[in-house]
Amino acid sequence: MALEKIDIPQDTLLVGVAASPGIALGQTYSVDRARMSAVERRISADEVPEQIQAFMEAVRLSRAQLEEVRSAVNARGLAEHLYILDTHLLILEDQMLLNGTTALIRDEFLNAEGALKRTLKKFQDVFNSIEDEYLRERRSDIDSVGERLLRNLKGQSQQPILDIDRQVIVVAHDMSPADTMLMDKARIIGFVTDLGGRTSHTAILARSLGIPAVIGLETVTTRVPSGTQVIVDGTLGYLVLNPSAETYREYEEKQQAYENREAELLSRNSLPAETLDGCRVRLRGNVELAAELPLALRYGAEGVGLFRSEFLYLNRAVPPSETDQVVAYRSVVEAMVPHPVTIRSLDLGGDKFAPEINVADEPNPAMGLRAVRFSLKERRLFKTQLRAILRASAFGQVRLMFPMISGVAEIRACKDLLAEARAELVAEGIDFDPHMPIGIMIEIPSAALIADLLAREVDFFSVGTNDLIQYCLAVDRSNEHVAYLYEPLHPAILRALQAICRAARQAGISVGMCGEMAADPLYTLILLGLGFDELSMNPPSIPRVKEILRLVRREEGELLLTELLSLATASEINRRLDAEMNRRFPEVFKPFL
Ligand code: PEP
Ligand code: MG
Repeated sequence: MALEKIDIPQDTLLVGVAASPGIALGQTYSVDRARMSAVERRISADEVPEQIQAFMEAVRLSRAQLEEVRSAVNARGLAEHLYILDTHLLILEDQMLLNGTTALIRDEFLNAEGALKRTLKKFQDVFNSIEDEYLRERRSDIDSVGERLLRNLKGQSQQPILDIDRQVIVVAHDMSPADTMLMDKARIIGFVTDLGGRTSHTAILARSLGIPAVIGLETVTTRVPSGTQVIVDGTLGYLVLNPSAETYREYEEKQQAYENREAELLSRNSLPAETLDGCRVRLRGNVELAAELPLALRYGAEGVGLFRSEFLYLNRAVPPSETDQVVAYRSVVEAMVPHPVTIRSLDLGGDKFAPEINVADEPNPAMGLRAVRFSLKERRLFKTQLRAILRASAFGQVRLMFPMISGVAEIRACKDLLAEARAELVAEGIDFDPHMPIGIMIEIPSAALIADLLAREVDFFSVGTNDLIQYCLAVDRSNEHVAYLYEPLHPAILRALQAICRAARQAGISVGMCGEMAADPLYTLILLGLGFDELSMNPPSIPRVKEILRLVRREEGELLLTELLSLATASEINRRLDAEMNRRFPEVFKPFL
Protein backbone atom coordinates (compact mmCIF):
# COMPACT_ATOMS: atom_id res chain seq x y z
CA MET A 1 0.00 0.00 0.00
CA ALA A 2 2.09 2.91 -1.23
CA LEU A 3 0.57 5.95 0.39
CA GLU A 4 1.71 9.27 -0.91
CA LYS A 5 3.99 11.18 1.42
CA ILE A 6 1.60 13.80 2.60
CA ASP A 7 2.50 16.61 4.90
CA ILE A 8 1.17 15.68 8.31
CA PRO A 9 0.90 18.69 10.62
CA GLN A 10 3.13 18.46 13.68
CA ASP A 11 1.63 16.84 16.77
CA THR A 12 -1.48 15.54 14.99
CA LEU A 13 -3.38 13.49 17.57
CA LEU A 14 -5.46 10.42 16.68
CA VAL A 15 -7.49 8.80 19.45
CA GLY A 16 -8.32 5.10 19.44
CA VAL A 17 -8.85 2.25 21.87
CA ALA A 18 -6.12 1.91 24.52
CA ALA A 19 -5.28 -1.74 23.91
CA SER A 20 -1.97 -2.26 25.66
CA PRO A 21 -0.24 0.20 28.02
CA GLY A 22 3.15 1.79 27.62
CA ILE A 23 4.80 4.27 25.31
CA ALA A 24 6.63 3.66 22.05
CA LEU A 25 8.44 6.27 20.00
CA GLY A 26 9.55 5.39 16.50
CA GLN A 27 8.85 5.03 12.81
CA THR A 28 5.81 3.37 11.35
CA TYR A 29 5.93 0.32 9.11
CA SER A 30 2.80 -0.39 7.12
CA VAL A 31 1.83 -4.01 6.87
CA ASP A 32 -0.33 -4.51 3.84
CA ARG A 33 -2.90 -7.15 4.53
CA ALA A 34 -4.59 -6.57 1.16
CA ARG A 35 -4.41 -9.49 -1.26
CA MET A 36 -2.14 -9.36 -4.29
CA SER A 37 -3.95 -9.72 -7.57
CA ALA A 38 -2.53 -11.82 -10.40
CA VAL A 39 -3.09 -10.77 -13.98
CA GLU A 40 -3.55 -13.64 -16.40
CA ARG A 41 -2.46 -13.26 -20.03
CA ARG A 42 -1.62 -15.48 -22.99
CA ILE A 43 2.01 -15.56 -24.02
CA SER A 44 3.76 -16.53 -27.24
CA ALA A 45 5.86 -19.70 -27.52
CA ASP A 46 8.99 -17.52 -27.45
CA GLU A 47 8.11 -16.17 -24.01
CA VAL A 48 7.72 -19.61 -22.43
CA PRO A 49 11.35 -20.10 -21.27
CA GLU A 50 11.59 -16.64 -19.71
CA GLN A 51 8.26 -17.04 -17.88
CA ILE A 52 9.31 -20.44 -16.52
CA GLN A 53 12.58 -18.92 -15.45
CA ALA A 54 10.75 -16.00 -13.76
CA PHE A 55 8.59 -18.47 -11.83
CA MET A 56 11.55 -20.58 -10.74
CA GLU A 57 13.38 -17.43 -9.69
CA ALA A 58 10.37 -16.41 -7.55
CA VAL A 59 10.45 -19.87 -5.92
CA ARG A 60 14.20 -19.54 -5.26
CA LEU A 61 13.79 -16.06 -3.81
CA SER A 62 10.86 -17.13 -1.64
CA ARG A 63 12.88 -20.03 -0.28
CA ALA A 64 15.86 -17.77 0.47
CA GLN A 65 13.58 -15.27 2.26
CA LEU A 66 11.92 -17.96 4.34
CA GLU A 67 15.26 -19.46 5.30
CA GLU A 68 16.53 -16.07 6.30
CA VAL A 69 13.48 -15.43 8.47
CA ARG A 70 13.85 -18.93 9.89
CA SER A 71 17.37 -18.29 11.13
CA ALA A 72 16.38 -14.86 12.48
CA VAL A 73 13.47 -16.40 14.40
CA ASN A 74 15.73 -19.14 15.71
CA ALA A 75 18.36 -16.65 16.81
CA ARG A 76 15.73 -14.71 18.74
CA GLY A 77 14.77 -17.79 20.70
CA LEU A 78 11.30 -18.07 19.19
CA ALA A 79 11.81 -21.71 18.28
CA GLU A 80 8.20 -22.63 18.90
CA HIS A 81 7.20 -20.68 15.78
CA LEU A 82 9.61 -22.49 13.45
CA TYR A 83 7.09 -25.09 12.37
CA ILE A 84 5.13 -22.41 10.53
CA LEU A 85 8.17 -21.59 8.43
CA ASP A 86 9.01 -25.25 7.93
CA THR A 87 5.49 -25.84 6.63
CA HIS A 88 5.90 -22.96 4.19
CA LEU A 89 9.27 -24.27 3.00
CA LEU A 90 7.73 -27.69 2.38
CA ILE A 91 4.92 -26.17 0.35
CA LEU A 92 7.54 -24.48 -1.83
CA GLU A 93 8.94 -27.92 -2.70
CA ASP A 94 5.55 -29.39 -3.57
CA GLN A 95 5.58 -31.03 -6.99
CA MET A 96 1.97 -30.13 -7.73
CA LEU A 97 2.87 -26.49 -7.19
CA LEU A 98 6.12 -26.55 -9.17
CA ASN A 99 5.23 -28.91 -12.04
CA GLY A 100 1.62 -27.77 -12.19
CA THR A 101 2.62 -24.14 -12.72
CA THR A 102 5.42 -24.78 -15.23
CA ALA A 103 3.12 -27.15 -17.19
CA LEU A 104 0.49 -24.41 -17.49
CA ILE A 105 3.11 -21.95 -18.78
CA ARG A 106 4.52 -24.48 -21.27
CA ASP A 107 1.35 -26.23 -22.46
CA GLU A 108 -1.32 -23.56 -22.14
CA PHE A 109 0.83 -20.53 -22.87
CA LEU A 110 -0.11 -18.72 -19.70
CA ASN A 111 2.12 -16.08 -18.14
CA ALA A 112 3.78 -17.07 -14.85
CA GLU A 113 1.41 -15.00 -12.67
CA GLY A 114 -1.67 -16.45 -14.36
CA ALA A 115 -0.31 -20.02 -14.20
CA LEU A 116 0.50 -19.63 -10.50
CA LYS A 117 -2.93 -18.23 -9.82
CA ARG A 118 -4.56 -21.25 -11.46
CA THR A 119 -2.38 -23.73 -9.59
CA LEU A 120 -3.13 -22.03 -6.29
CA LYS A 121 -6.84 -22.14 -7.13
CA LYS A 122 -6.53 -25.93 -7.57
CA PHE A 123 -4.89 -26.22 -4.15
CA GLN A 124 -7.58 -24.06 -2.59
CA ASP A 125 -10.32 -26.17 -4.17
CA VAL A 126 -8.77 -29.32 -2.73
CA PHE A 127 -8.63 -27.75 0.72
CA ASN A 128 -12.15 -26.36 0.47
CA SER A 129 -13.50 -29.82 -0.30
CA ILE A 130 -11.94 -31.42 2.79
CA GLU A 131 -14.63 -32.63 5.16
CA ASP A 132 -12.74 -31.86 8.30
CA GLU A 133 -13.35 -28.20 8.99
CA TYR A 134 -10.15 -27.77 10.89
CA LEU A 135 -7.94 -29.15 8.13
CA ARG A 136 -9.82 -27.04 5.63
CA GLU A 137 -8.76 -23.96 7.52
CA ARG A 138 -5.14 -24.81 6.96
CA ARG A 139 -5.55 -23.36 3.50
CA SER A 140 -4.11 -20.23 5.03
CA ASP A 141 -0.58 -21.65 4.75
CA ILE A 142 -1.03 -22.23 1.02
CA ASP A 143 -2.46 -18.72 0.68
CA SER A 144 0.47 -17.26 2.55
CA VAL A 145 3.05 -19.03 0.36
CA GLY A 146 1.06 -18.13 -2.76
CA GLU A 147 1.06 -14.50 -1.70
CA ARG A 148 4.81 -14.55 -1.19
CA LEU A 149 5.44 -16.15 -4.60
CA LEU A 150 3.17 -13.66 -6.28
CA ARG A 151 4.83 -10.69 -4.61
CA ASN A 152 8.23 -11.96 -5.67
CA LEU A 153 7.01 -12.56 -9.24
CA LYS A 154 5.74 -9.00 -9.36
CA GLY A 155 8.92 -7.68 -7.79
CA GLN A 156 7.10 -6.34 -4.73
CA SER A 157 8.57 -6.50 -1.26
CA GLN A 158 7.32 -8.87 1.41
CA GLN A 159 5.76 -7.56 4.56
CA PRO A 160 4.78 -10.33 6.92
CA ILE A 161 5.49 -9.72 10.56
CA LEU A 162 8.32 -12.23 10.73
CA ASP A 163 10.21 -10.43 7.94
CA ILE A 164 10.54 -7.19 9.88
CA ASP A 165 14.16 -6.88 10.87
CA ARG A 166 14.35 -3.51 12.66
CA GLN A 167 12.52 -1.69 15.43
CA VAL A 168 9.25 -0.33 14.10
CA ILE A 169 5.70 0.55 14.99
CA VAL A 170 3.47 -1.61 12.84
CA VAL A 171 0.46 0.00 11.16
CA ALA A 172 -2.17 -2.41 9.85
CA HIS A 173 -5.84 -2.40 8.94
CA ASP A 174 -6.39 -5.35 11.25
CA MET A 175 -4.14 -7.75 13.07
CA SER A 176 -5.31 -11.28 13.66
CA PRO A 177 -4.32 -13.10 16.86
CA ALA A 178 -2.27 -15.36 14.58
CA ASP A 179 -0.31 -12.33 13.31
CA THR A 180 0.06 -10.91 16.79
CA MET A 181 1.57 -14.08 18.21
CA LEU A 182 4.48 -13.67 15.80
CA MET A 183 5.38 -10.29 17.24
CA ASP A 184 8.22 -9.80 19.64
CA LYS A 185 9.05 -6.67 21.52
CA ALA A 186 12.61 -6.54 20.25
CA ARG A 187 11.37 -5.61 16.75
CA ILE A 188 7.76 -4.54 17.09
CA ILE A 189 7.95 -1.79 19.68
CA GLY A 190 4.30 -0.87 19.21
CA PHE A 191 1.39 -1.32 16.85
CA VAL A 192 -1.72 0.50 15.73
CA THR A 193 -4.69 -0.68 13.71
CA ASP A 194 -7.88 0.57 12.10
CA LEU A 195 -10.06 -2.16 13.65
CA GLY A 196 -10.46 -3.88 17.00
CA GLY A 197 -11.87 -3.58 20.54
CA ARG A 198 -10.11 -3.72 23.93
CA THR A 199 -10.98 -7.31 24.68
CA SER A 200 -10.27 -8.67 21.20
CA HIS A 201 -7.63 -11.39 21.40
CA THR A 202 -5.23 -9.17 19.51
CA ALA A 203 -5.41 -6.61 22.32
CA ILE A 204 -5.13 -9.32 24.98
CA LEU A 205 -2.00 -10.75 23.36
CA ALA A 206 -0.42 -7.32 23.03
CA ARG A 207 -0.86 -6.79 26.77
CA SER A 208 0.58 -10.19 27.58
CA LEU A 209 3.59 -9.52 25.36
CA GLY A 210 4.01 -6.04 26.84
CA ILE A 211 3.79 -4.30 23.43
CA PRO A 212 2.13 -0.84 23.59
CA ALA A 213 -0.82 -0.73 21.18
CA VAL A 214 -3.65 1.53 20.10
CA ILE A 215 -6.36 -0.11 18.04
CA GLY A 216 -9.71 0.87 16.53
CA LEU A 217 -8.21 4.04 14.99
CA GLU A 218 -10.52 3.53 11.98
CA THR A 219 -8.46 5.32 9.31
CA VAL A 220 -4.87 5.08 10.45
CA THR A 221 -3.78 3.01 7.43
CA THR A 222 -5.01 5.63 5.00
CA ARG A 223 -3.63 8.57 6.97
CA VAL A 224 -0.18 7.40 8.00
CA PRO A 225 2.40 6.31 5.42
CA SER A 226 5.26 3.93 6.24
CA GLY A 227 8.23 5.73 7.73
CA THR A 228 6.21 8.38 9.61
CA GLN A 229 7.61 9.41 12.96
CA VAL A 230 4.98 8.67 15.63
CA ILE A 231 4.38 8.17 19.33
CA VAL A 232 2.10 5.39 20.57
CA ASP A 233 0.57 6.02 23.97
CA GLY A 234 -1.07 2.67 24.64
CA THR A 235 -2.16 3.71 28.12
CA LEU A 236 -4.38 6.54 26.95
CA GLY A 237 -5.09 5.28 23.41
CA TYR A 238 -3.29 8.14 21.65
CA LEU A 239 -1.27 8.16 18.48
CA VAL A 240 0.74 11.34 17.94
CA LEU A 241 1.87 11.87 14.34
CA ASN A 242 4.95 13.81 13.39
CA PRO A 243 5.74 14.92 16.98
CA SER A 244 7.53 18.21 17.58
CA ALA A 245 10.84 18.14 19.44
CA GLU A 246 9.07 19.31 22.55
CA THR A 247 6.36 16.62 22.41
CA TYR A 248 9.00 14.00 21.72
CA ARG A 249 10.96 15.02 24.80
CA GLU A 250 7.81 15.05 26.91
CA TYR A 251 6.93 11.50 25.86
CA GLU A 252 10.49 10.30 26.37
CA GLU A 253 10.14 11.44 29.96
CA LYS A 254 6.75 9.74 30.27
CA GLN A 255 8.26 6.55 28.90
CA GLN A 256 11.06 6.71 31.45
CA ALA A 257 8.58 7.37 34.28
CA TYR A 258 6.46 4.43 33.12
CA GLU A 259 9.46 2.12 33.05
CA ASN A 260 10.63 3.28 36.49
CA ARG A 261 7.19 2.62 37.92
CA GLU A 262 7.09 -0.86 36.36
CA ALA A 263 10.51 -1.67 37.80
CA GLU A 264 9.39 -0.49 41.23
CA LEU A 265 6.26 -2.66 41.11
CA LEU A 266 8.29 -5.64 39.93
CA SER A 267 10.67 -5.29 42.83
CA ARG A 268 7.76 -6.22 45.14
CA ASN A 269 6.64 -9.25 43.13
CA SER A 270 7.32 -11.84 45.81
CA LEU A 271 5.04 -10.26 48.44
CA PRO A 272 1.87 -12.27 49.07
CA ALA A 273 -1.47 -11.12 47.62
CA GLU A 274 -3.08 -10.83 51.03
CA THR A 275 -5.45 -8.22 52.41
CA LEU A 276 -4.96 -6.43 55.75
CA ASP A 277 -7.45 -8.85 57.34
CA GLY A 278 -5.57 -11.91 56.09
CA CYS A 279 -7.71 -12.79 53.09
CA ARG A 280 -5.60 -14.50 50.38
CA VAL A 281 -6.58 -14.01 46.75
CA ARG A 282 -4.68 -16.10 44.22
CA LEU A 283 -3.30 -13.90 41.47
CA ARG A 284 -2.59 -16.01 38.42
CA GLY A 285 -1.46 -15.42 34.87
CA ASN A 286 -3.38 -15.76 31.62
CA VAL A 287 -1.04 -17.39 29.14
CA GLU A 288 -1.40 -17.96 25.42
CA LEU A 289 2.13 -18.97 24.44
CA ALA A 290 4.92 -20.79 26.27
CA ALA A 291 7.08 -17.71 25.52
CA GLU A 292 5.01 -15.74 28.04
CA LEU A 293 5.88 -18.03 30.97
CA PRO A 294 9.07 -16.29 32.10
CA LEU A 295 7.12 -13.02 32.14
CA ALA A 296 4.34 -14.61 34.22
CA LEU A 297 6.88 -15.87 36.75
CA ARG A 298 8.69 -12.53 36.84
CA TYR A 299 5.45 -10.72 37.66
CA GLY A 300 4.77 -13.13 40.51
CA ALA A 301 1.93 -15.23 39.04
CA GLU A 302 0.90 -18.00 41.44
CA GLY A 303 0.22 -20.39 38.60
CA VAL A 304 -1.77 -20.06 35.40
CA GLY A 305 -5.47 -19.31 35.76
CA LEU A 306 -6.15 -19.53 32.03
CA PHE A 307 -4.02 -21.31 29.45
CA ARG A 308 -5.67 -20.49 26.12
CA SER A 309 -4.86 -23.81 24.45
CA GLU A 310 -6.29 -22.77 21.09
CA PHE A 311 -3.13 -20.79 20.37
CA LEU A 312 -1.36 -24.14 19.92
CA TYR A 313 -3.68 -24.73 16.99
CA LEU A 314 -3.17 -21.44 15.16
CA ASN A 315 -0.56 -20.83 12.46
CA ARG A 316 0.01 -24.46 11.63
CA ALA A 317 -0.78 -26.85 8.84
CA VAL A 318 -2.26 -29.68 10.93
CA PRO A 319 -3.64 -29.77 14.46
CA PRO A 320 -1.04 -30.58 17.12
CA SER A 321 -0.84 -34.30 17.83
CA GLU A 322 -1.48 -35.74 21.29
CA THR A 323 2.28 -35.92 21.86
CA ASP A 324 2.81 -32.31 20.67
CA GLN A 325 0.20 -31.22 23.15
CA VAL A 326 1.55 -33.25 26.06
CA VAL A 327 4.97 -31.68 25.46
CA ALA A 328 3.48 -28.16 25.35
CA TYR A 329 1.24 -28.56 28.43
CA ARG A 330 3.94 -30.36 30.38
CA SER A 331 6.42 -27.53 29.87
CA VAL A 332 3.89 -25.02 31.26
CA VAL A 333 2.93 -27.30 34.15
CA GLU A 334 6.54 -27.99 35.12
CA ALA A 335 7.51 -24.32 34.88
CA MET A 336 4.74 -23.47 37.36
CA VAL A 337 5.33 -26.15 40.01
CA PRO A 338 4.19 -25.95 42.85
CA HIS A 339 1.35 -23.78 41.50
CA PRO A 340 -1.57 -25.05 39.42
CA VAL A 341 -2.08 -24.56 35.70
CA THR A 342 -5.63 -24.24 34.43
CA ILE A 343 -5.78 -25.54 30.89
CA ARG A 344 -8.83 -24.44 28.99
CA SER A 345 -9.96 -26.82 26.29
CA LEU A 346 -10.02 -25.56 22.74
CA ASP A 347 -11.82 -22.23 22.32
CA LEU A 348 -11.54 -21.80 18.57
CA GLY A 349 -13.96 -19.51 16.79
CA GLY A 350 -15.14 -16.00 17.57
CA ASP A 351 -12.13 -13.87 16.62
CA LYS A 352 -9.48 -16.54 16.97
CA PHE A 353 -8.68 -17.01 13.30
CA ALA A 354 -6.69 -15.27 10.66
CA PRO A 355 -9.14 -12.89 8.94
CA GLU A 356 -9.22 -14.97 5.78
CA ILE A 357 -10.20 -18.19 7.54
CA ASN A 358 -13.33 -18.85 9.44
CA VAL A 359 -14.03 -22.09 11.24
CA ALA A 360 -17.45 -22.77 9.83
CA ASP A 361 -17.83 -19.75 7.58
CA GLU A 362 -20.81 -18.63 9.62
CA PRO A 363 -22.58 -15.30 9.43
CA ASN A 364 -22.44 -14.86 13.20
CA PRO A 365 -19.32 -16.61 14.51
CA ALA A 366 -19.56 -15.20 18.08
CA MET A 367 -22.78 -17.17 18.51
CA GLY A 368 -21.93 -20.00 16.20
CA LEU A 369 -20.17 -23.31 16.32
CA ARG A 370 -17.33 -22.18 18.54
CA ALA A 371 -15.45 -23.24 21.67
CA VAL A 372 -16.93 -26.28 23.42
CA ARG A 373 -19.68 -26.60 20.79
CA PHE A 374 -17.03 -27.06 18.12
CA SER A 375 -15.13 -29.50 20.34
CA LEU A 376 -18.22 -31.61 21.04
CA LYS A 377 -18.83 -31.83 17.29
CA GLU A 378 -15.22 -32.65 16.42
CA ARG A 379 -15.06 -35.37 19.04
CA ARG A 380 -11.88 -36.99 17.79
CA LEU A 381 -9.99 -33.72 17.99
CA PHE A 382 -11.51 -33.06 21.43
CA LYS A 383 -10.67 -36.50 22.81
CA THR A 384 -7.07 -36.10 21.65
CA GLN A 385 -6.87 -32.88 23.60
CA LEU A 386 -8.48 -34.37 26.72
CA ARG A 387 -6.03 -37.29 26.66
CA ALA A 388 -3.13 -34.85 26.34
CA ILE A 389 -4.35 -32.70 29.24
CA LEU A 390 -4.86 -35.79 31.41
CA ARG A 391 -1.38 -37.01 30.57
CA ALA A 392 0.11 -33.61 31.44
CA SER A 393 -1.62 -33.83 34.85
CA ALA A 394 0.91 -36.49 35.85
CA PHE A 395 3.64 -33.81 35.88
CA GLY A 396 2.21 -31.20 38.23
CA GLN A 397 -1.05 -29.60 39.29
CA VAL A 398 -3.39 -29.39 36.31
CA ARG A 399 -6.95 -28.09 36.35
CA LEU A 400 -9.14 -28.56 33.29
CA MET A 401 -11.69 -25.97 32.28
CA PHE A 402 -14.33 -25.94 29.53
CA PRO A 403 -15.18 -22.70 27.71
CA MET A 404 -18.57 -21.30 26.66
CA ILE A 405 -20.71 -23.70 28.68
CA SER A 406 -24.35 -22.71 28.24
CA GLY A 407 -26.09 -25.42 30.25
CA VAL A 408 -25.81 -28.58 32.33
CA ALA A 409 -26.16 -30.96 29.38
CA GLU A 410 -23.03 -29.55 27.76
CA ILE A 411 -20.85 -29.99 30.82
CA ARG A 412 -22.15 -33.54 31.24
CA ALA A 413 -21.28 -34.29 27.61
CA CYS A 414 -17.76 -32.98 28.23
CA LYS A 415 -17.40 -35.07 31.37
CA ASP A 416 -18.60 -38.19 29.52
CA LEU A 417 -15.92 -37.75 26.90
CA LEU A 418 -13.37 -37.08 29.62
CA ALA A 419 -14.41 -40.34 31.30
CA GLU A 420 -13.81 -42.17 28.00
CA ALA A 421 -10.37 -40.58 27.70
CA ARG A 422 -9.57 -41.59 31.29
CA ALA A 423 -10.69 -45.18 30.69
CA GLU A 424 -8.49 -45.40 27.59
CA LEU A 425 -5.44 -44.18 29.48
CA VAL A 426 -6.09 -46.62 32.33
CA ALA A 427 -6.34 -49.46 29.81
CA GLU A 428 -3.11 -48.31 28.18
CA GLY A 429 -1.35 -48.04 31.55
CA ILE A 430 -0.62 -44.32 31.09
CA ASP A 431 -0.32 -42.11 34.19
CA PHE A 432 -2.56 -39.15 35.00
CA ASP A 433 -3.94 -37.39 38.06
CA PRO A 434 -7.28 -39.08 38.88
CA HIS A 435 -8.28 -36.09 41.03
CA MET A 436 -7.66 -33.40 38.42
CA PRO A 437 -10.19 -30.62 39.21
CA ILE A 438 -12.76 -29.88 36.50
CA GLY A 439 -14.18 -26.41 36.03
CA ILE A 440 -16.14 -24.31 33.62
CA MET A 441 -16.01 -20.79 32.38
CA ILE A 442 -19.06 -18.74 33.15
CA GLU A 443 -19.28 -16.46 30.15
CA ILE A 444 -22.78 -16.94 28.75
CA PRO A 445 -25.76 -15.29 30.49
CA SER A 446 -27.62 -18.63 30.69
CA ALA A 447 -24.74 -20.08 32.68
CA ALA A 448 -24.80 -17.11 35.07
CA LEU A 449 -28.54 -17.57 35.58
CA ILE A 450 -28.22 -21.27 36.41
CA ALA A 451 -24.92 -20.99 38.26
CA ASP A 452 -26.47 -22.94 41.19
CA LEU A 453 -27.24 -25.92 38.92
CA LEU A 454 -23.85 -25.82 37.24
CA ALA A 455 -22.04 -25.55 40.59
CA ARG A 456 -23.19 -29.09 41.45
CA GLU A 457 -21.39 -30.45 38.41
CA VAL A 458 -17.90 -29.01 38.78
CA ASP A 459 -15.03 -28.20 41.14
CA PHE A 460 -14.62 -24.54 40.19
CA PHE A 461 -15.95 -21.63 38.19
CA SER A 462 -13.93 -19.08 36.31
CA VAL A 463 -15.82 -16.05 35.08
CA GLY A 464 -14.94 -14.95 31.57
CA THR A 465 -16.09 -11.36 31.65
CA ASN A 466 -14.85 -10.61 28.13
CA ASP A 467 -17.59 -12.78 26.72
CA LEU A 468 -20.04 -12.45 29.61
CA ILE A 469 -20.19 -8.68 29.07
CA GLN A 470 -20.38 -9.10 25.30
CA TYR A 471 -23.34 -11.48 25.54
CA CYS A 472 -25.13 -9.83 28.47
CA LEU A 473 -25.02 -6.38 26.92
CA ALA A 474 -25.15 -7.53 23.27
CA VAL A 475 -21.95 -5.65 22.43
CA ASP A 476 -19.40 -7.19 20.07
CA ARG A 477 -16.12 -7.14 22.02
CA SER A 478 -14.05 -6.69 18.83
CA ASN A 479 -16.07 -3.87 17.32
CA GLU A 480 -14.67 -0.38 17.84
CA HIS A 481 -18.02 1.23 16.92
CA VAL A 482 -19.79 -0.14 19.98
CA ALA A 483 -16.81 -0.01 22.36
CA TYR A 484 -18.54 2.79 24.31
CA LEU A 485 -21.32 0.36 25.30
CA TYR A 486 -18.94 -2.25 26.63
CA GLU A 487 -19.46 -1.50 30.34
CA PRO A 488 -18.06 -3.85 33.00
CA LEU A 489 -19.87 -1.76 35.63
CA HIS A 490 -23.31 -2.06 34.10
CA PRO A 491 -25.66 -2.96 36.99
CA ALA A 492 -26.59 -6.13 35.07
CA ILE A 493 -22.98 -7.28 35.13
CA LEU A 494 -22.53 -6.57 38.84
CA ARG A 495 -25.70 -8.50 39.60
CA ALA A 496 -24.60 -11.41 37.41
CA LEU A 497 -21.22 -11.53 39.17
CA GLN A 498 -22.93 -11.46 42.55
CA ALA A 499 -25.23 -14.35 41.60
CA ILE A 500 -22.31 -16.43 40.29
CA CYS A 501 -20.21 -15.86 43.42
CA ARG A 502 -23.14 -16.68 45.72
CA ALA A 503 -23.89 -19.91 43.87
CA ALA A 504 -20.25 -20.95 44.07
CA ARG A 505 -20.06 -20.14 47.79
CA GLN A 506 -23.24 -22.05 48.57
CA ALA A 507 -21.96 -25.10 46.70
CA GLY A 508 -18.57 -24.81 48.39
CA ILE A 509 -16.60 -24.54 45.14
CA SER A 510 -13.97 -21.94 44.29
CA VAL A 511 -14.69 -19.05 41.98
CA GLY A 512 -12.21 -17.06 39.95
CA MET A 513 -12.25 -14.49 37.22
CA CYS A 514 -10.05 -14.70 34.13
CA GLY A 515 -11.62 -12.04 31.91
CA GLU A 516 -9.86 -8.72 31.45
CA MET A 517 -11.96 -7.16 34.20
CA ALA A 518 -9.73 -9.03 36.68
CA ALA A 519 -6.70 -7.11 35.41
CA ASP A 520 -7.91 -3.58 36.07
CA PRO A 521 -7.05 -2.33 39.59
CA LEU A 522 -10.14 -0.11 39.43
CA TYR A 523 -12.25 -3.23 40.05
CA THR A 524 -10.00 -5.04 42.56
CA LEU A 525 -11.76 -3.86 45.70
CA ILE A 526 -15.25 -4.77 44.50
CA LEU A 527 -14.08 -8.15 43.17
CA LEU A 528 -12.73 -8.80 46.66
CA GLY A 529 -16.11 -7.73 48.07
CA LEU A 530 -17.87 -10.12 45.70
CA GLY A 531 -15.79 -12.97 47.14
CA PHE A 532 -13.55 -14.04 44.25
CA ASP A 533 -10.88 -16.50 45.40
CA GLU A 534 -8.76 -16.13 42.30
CA LEU A 535 -8.05 -13.40 39.75
CA SER A 536 -6.21 -14.39 36.60
CA MET A 537 -4.87 -11.77 34.21
CA ASN A 538 -2.21 -10.76 31.73
CA PRO A 539 0.90 -11.04 33.92
CA PRO A 540 2.07 -7.39 33.67
CA SER A 541 -1.16 -6.38 35.45
CA ILE A 542 -0.51 -8.51 38.55
CA PRO A 543 1.63 -6.01 40.54
CA ARG A 544 -0.95 -3.18 40.49
CA VAL A 545 -3.82 -5.46 41.48
CA LYS A 546 -1.70 -6.89 44.26
CA GLU A 547 -0.80 -3.43 45.49
CA ILE A 548 -4.48 -2.64 46.05
CA LEU A 549 -5.22 -5.98 47.71
CA ARG A 550 -2.47 -5.45 50.24
CA LEU A 551 -3.96 -2.13 51.36
CA VAL A 552 -7.60 -3.15 51.96
CA ARG A 553 -9.96 -5.33 53.99
CA ARG A 554 -12.64 -7.55 52.49
CA GLU A 555 -15.36 -5.78 54.45
CA GLU A 556 -14.52 -2.51 52.73
CA GLY A 557 -15.08 -4.17 49.39
CA GLU A 558 -18.43 -5.57 50.55
CA LEU A 559 -19.60 -2.16 51.73
CA LEU A 560 -18.54 -0.42 48.54
CA LEU A 561 -20.23 -3.12 46.47
CA THR A 562 -23.51 -2.68 48.36
CA GLU A 563 -23.40 1.02 47.68
CA LEU A 564 -22.63 0.58 43.99
CA LEU A 565 -25.43 -1.95 43.58
CA SER A 566 -27.89 0.70 44.69
CA LEU A 567 -27.00 2.92 41.72
CA ALA A 568 -28.93 2.64 38.47
CA THR A 569 -26.51 3.35 35.65
CA ALA A 570 -23.04 2.26 34.65
CA SER A 571 -21.81 5.83 34.48
CA GLU A 572 -22.98 6.63 38.02
CA ILE A 573 -21.30 3.48 39.29
CA ASN A 574 -18.19 4.27 37.33
CA ARG A 575 -17.99 7.83 38.65
CA ARG A 576 -18.44 6.70 42.23
CA LEU A 577 -15.92 3.88 41.99
CA ASP A 578 -13.40 6.01 40.14
CA ALA A 579 -13.60 8.76 42.74
CA GLU A 580 -13.27 6.31 45.62
CA MET A 581 -10.31 4.41 44.15
CA ASN A 582 -8.46 7.54 43.10
CA ARG A 583 -8.95 9.07 46.50
CA ARG A 584 -7.75 5.98 48.33
CA PHE A 585 -4.97 4.85 46.03
CA PRO A 586 -3.60 7.92 44.29
CA GLU A 587 -0.25 6.21 43.71
CA VAL A 588 -1.77 3.31 41.79
CA PHE A 589 -4.02 5.42 39.61
CA LYS A 590 -1.90 8.44 39.00
CA PRO A 591 -0.84 8.70 35.36
CA PHE A 592 2.87 8.05 35.04
CA LEU A 593 3.56 11.76 34.63
C1 PEP B 1 -13.42 -14.36 28.55
O1 PEP B 1 -14.31 -14.51 27.72
O2 PEP B 1 -13.48 -13.52 29.47
C2 PEP B 1 -12.19 -15.17 28.49
C3 PEP B 1 -11.28 -15.10 29.44
O3 PEP B 1 -12.00 -15.95 27.41
P1 PEP B 1 -11.54 -15.38 25.98
O4 PEP B 1 -11.10 -13.95 26.18
O5 PEP B 1 -10.42 -16.23 25.49
O6 PEP B 1 -12.78 -15.50 25.16
MG1 MG C 1 -14.34 -16.21 26.38
